[in-house]
Amino acid sequence: MKCDVLIVGAGFSGAVLANKIASTGKKVILIDQRNHISGNCYDFIDENGILIHKYGPHIFHTNSEKVWNYLSQFTEWNYYFHTVLAHVDGKKIPVPFNLNSLYQVFPESYALKIEQLLLEKYGFGNKIPILKLLQTDDKDLKFLADFVYKNIFLGYNLKQWGVKPEEIDFSVSSRVPVFISKDDRYFQDIYQGIPSNGYTEIFNKMLNNSNIEILLETTFDEVKSKIQYEQLVYTGNIDKYFDYCFGELPYRSLEFEFQNHKTEYFQDVAQENYPNNYDYTRITEFKHLTNQNADTTTIGIEYPKPYVIGKNEPYYPIPSNENNEIYLKYLELANKLNGKVIFSGRLAEYKYYNMDQVIGVALQIFEKYFK
Ligand code: FAD
Ligand code: UDP
Repeated sequence: MKCDVLIVGAGFSGAVLANKIASTGKKVILIDQRNHISGNCYDFIDENGILIHKYGPHIFHTNSEKVWNYLSQFTEWNYYFHTVLAHVDGKKIPVPFNLNSLYQVFPESYALKIEQLLLEKYGFGNKIPILKLLQTDDKDLKFLADFVYKNIFLGYNLKQWGVKPEEIDFSVSSRVPVFISKDDRYFQDIYQGIPSNGYTEIFNKMLNNSNIEILLETTFDEVKSKIQYEQLVYTGNIDKYFDYCFGELPYRSLEFEFQNHKTEYFQDVAQENYPNNYDYTRITEFKHLTNQNADTTTIGIEYPKPYVIGKNEPYYPIPSNENNEIYLKYLELANKLNGKVIFSGRLAEYKYYNMDQVIGVALQIFEKYFK
């Protein structure tokens, strides 16, 4: 078999590059070891007729007009703003923890005092990472920080990462800062939404080009000596590509349990977090994302797990200085390949990317190597 560009992985990284490269007239072969396209964004109708996300809840959000416009060629949007409630002290409070959460967990007079301190010290509309708030020398703000750390972050982190928040890179817990605001939305990006007909429909449209041939249930190892190509785009694990010569890059995995309930709705919002109870971190109810009308509802429960090669999936790179040093050694090898092999995406760049970041990087790679 022969092509101009072989692309390994049919997630957003591989699909965006396939779409752009094929539009220049080049022949692309796109392979994926799974039996479907769309990578971790894959959604499908389950046996109960409910559109679900196989690999966890995917909410699209971006500040990049370029990325939003690019994706909007392939879909209409449900204009959806994600809200998350965390179960704390028998109440459901908005996360990120904000001024509304404050009044739900503390007596009004104390909440008022803390609110004033937060406004004086940090200012309305600002976001404070919990590990930073913990360093405060104010007695009442320290009480708040300890409360939020203990009730929102500690248990969730121990489950999600197997370590305390301070034992993983600062950037991880900073994704969900304390928000000095009454805005209950999980994200504040300019553009937010859920594709009206789902993510897989976007991928079908992106890849609908006669210059693209798709091979599913096909690993790179199986075809690397059988397919002739000018360039290779690799979106799988970079450590695997180089046969783990500098050791394994660590990841966290997840186990998903799906349940269908014979009721119209199961919970109040699309995502409810359980920092302090049970073995799982969060439950997603997909109908809240998709606005689907149905008599029953399907939920997805997430149980974090250690990643073991060959046993489960590498869902999350684990950001840390130590792991980044290993990654940089692989990157040095990658750079020696001089554009013949291009590494793109969450696994290939070992970065905790959101979808819009992955798409943005793939568009840049196209400009640099293929235009
Ligand atoms: P992937 O989607 O992982 O695609 C890589 C593909 O390569 C996979 O299909 C894999 O099977 C294939 N592959 C790997 N190695 C090989 C090989 N050797 N041979 C053949 N095929 C191979 N982002 C958001 O913006 N919003 C969200 O709400 C959000 N929620 C998330 C929830 C969870 C639980 C997870 C895990 C991620 C979430 N993300 C979210 C992140 C988002 O999933 C990623 O940014 C995006 O899917 C990464 O795209 P990718 O193409 O780089 O990788
Ligand atoms: N986090 C937490 N408690 C929560 C929500 C998030 O401790 O209720 C922390 C935790 O470290 C988590 C990180 O914030 O891994 C990032 O959360 P996000 O929702 O962005 O995770 P993702 O959707 O990528 O799994």
